[in-house]
Amino acid sequence: MIKKISNRNIIYLDNAASTPLNKDVINEMLPFIKNDYGNPSSVHEKGRKVKVAIQNSRKRVARLIGANSSEIFFTSGGTESNNLALKGFCEYLRETDEQRNQIIISTIEHDTILETSIFLKKYGFDIKFLDVDSHGIVEPSRFKNLLNEKTGLVSIMLANNEVGTIQPISELAKITHDFDKNIFFHTDAVQGAGKIPIDVRELDVDSLSISSHKIYGPKGVGALYIKKSRKIHPLIHGGGQESSIRSGTENVYGIVGFGKAAEISLKNLKKNFDYLKSSRDYLIKKILSNISGTSLNGSYESRLPNNVNITFLGVNGEELIVELDEHGIEASTGSACSTNKQKSSHVLKAMGLDYEEISGSIRFSLGIQNTKEELDKTVEILSVVIADLRDRSPFKIKYQ
Ligand code: PLP
Repeated sequence: MIKKISNRNIIYLDNAASTPLNKDVINEMLPFIKNDYGNPSSVHEKGRKVKVAIQNSRKRVARLIGANSSEIFFTSGGTESNNLALKGFCEYLRETDEQRNQIIISTIEHDTILETSIFLKKYGFDIKFLDVDSHGIVEPSRFKNLLNEKTGLVSIMLANNEVGTIQPISELAKITHDFDKNIFFHTDAVQGAGKIPIDVRELDVDSLSISSHKIYGPKGVGALYIKKSRKIHPLIHGGGQESSIRSGTENVYGIVGFGKAAEISLKNLKKNFDYLKSSRDYLIKKILSNISGTSLNGSYESRLPNNVNITFLGVNGEELIVELDEHGIEASTGSACSTNKQKSSHVLKAMGLDYEEISGSIRFSLGIQNTKEELDKTVEILSVVIADLRDRSPFKIKYQ
């Protein structure tokens, strides 16, 4: 039996759920936690200083995605950004073009998009679901067939949180805008930002969500990019902060930390991409060759550099996560933001996996802090834990 790991040796492989704060990000935030407590709306020096810091962060976040800083609106995170884009644009549509009441989303969207779309049904919006193939990728020609004169909004994620598949967003946005330039195209880039290059002009999207805590920044802060020529309604009304798109005194240290995290992510994008991709490929190869009855979920070619989603036949994913946790390995079954619901993965289901495959699947999401030794240790422990779980299973099927 493998010795259980003490707290000091935790191997954290859940970086798609959240990432550790970068040291330089903490240092950038500290003065604003300790001394620079002014309100950015105040006209005095303390206020002005903080306002300048926010504007600086706005530039840094804009640079990460190729936007203009006036197109960046700070929010409380990816959840709020997605809500703001969808509800904010649908509210605008209700006032300006009532006939357009159709929303197209993919079947593998994050709950923040799925639940928001379902909410919008109450206001007369109709949802059309775009299927994915067995690799978790949407088919552009199938998408084209869904568009019609009633389509008002399209929301398709850049990269999936469970299986890491990257969608052909620029192609989909082009199809949309060639069909009708008034259709609003939103993309949830929470998982893709900081890991793959993003340029909002090349993507041709109208809005895009990002979140700070996925890129080694603080939690509770994110941003929505909104293309200059597009209009949406605010969800939070009040003092008119964030150009009246999102009122409320700004989360100053969060925004400052987010800005620094964005700057560092952009600077190290290529280096981090290469490191993560080689770590990812190493882990995938090692798991698949060392443990029988395993398969990789999601496209290999069009995939985030840090996502490893594997089916382990004959085991229950929830039990596997608990066992791994006891041995100091932290992974997840998929979306951290919805784990409380204990529901089975709608993403794997949409890709056509059967019940056994879905329940035996877990996600390892790598971070730049993970080492090769940690990955070796993970596979060593996994092999023992899987064998043990399979042995305890009443079915005891042998996987060659
Ligand atoms: N969208 C995706 C794809 C995510 O993975 C997440 C969180 O995991 C969110 C949105 C929500 O982001 P936040 O945690 O910043 O609210």
